[in-house]
Amino acid sequence: MSDAAHIDHDDVVAWLTLVAERVHDQKAYLTELDSAIGDADHGINMDRGFQAVVGILPTLPADDIGAVLKGVAMKLISTVGGASGPLYGTFFLRFGTATAGRADLDIAGFADGFDAGIAGIRDRGKAEPGDKTMLDALLPASEALRAGIDGGASAADALAAAVAAAEQGMQATIPIVARKGRASYLGERSAGHQDPGATSSHLLLQAAADTLFTG
Ligand code: ADP
Ligand code: MG
Repeated sequence: MSDAAHIDHDDVVAWLTLVAERVHDQKAYLTELDSAIGDADHGINMDRGFQAVVGILPTLPADDIGAVLKGVAMKLISTVGGASGPLYGTFFLRFGTATAGRADLDIAGFADGFDAGIAGIRDRGKAEPGDKTMLDALLPASEALRAGIDGGASAADALAAAVAAAEQGMQATIPIVARKGRASYLGERSAGHQDPGATSSHLLLQAAADTLFTG
């Protein structure tokens, strides 16, 4: 079932397909951000992974959102190098475990999966909020999503609030001195640059808002 309150398999596929398209379009930008404070491969890594994901989407089960997300995770883990591959892989693996066997999700189910995915990133990468990582976009998004749901907002409005919070969190990484990942090797010189992973996480959420719970 797919309507303004529920998403189904086809919505999830549309989301991931749009992520792949946008990552491809933003490949040079994501890599440029990573060239300032990393090793200039974030766009290349993400594009390689999501192009591979698009290739396997048609082969994944049509009635099990969790199985789709786990398939995506395995593909990302096997194709994306660097820190972001295992981290986004773990995100989708935990998201998929939390939604195993589900043919559709409401916004609360989506939020539960999203939070399980974020917990996976925290477990794996051991980063804290404010370390200048993808978590600095994802954690504020999670809080805004929960606040929207608890406050009775529509699914679309709750997701839009999450995107706005992710964008703010992404921008807030600019002045931060990195404490995790390659950027931390730069010490103080990492300040003044937007985190590439926070930028791709914002992209992931923007694509979600553009495809999910749209009615
Ligand atoms: P690598 O740093 O190995 O080259 P990428 O360039 O693909 O990998 O990804 C870099 C991004 O990964 C960073 O911008 C940051 O957001 C994220 N990242 C790195 N380490 C961690 C961590 N421990 N926890 C969360 N995110 C991290
Ligand atoms: Mg890199």
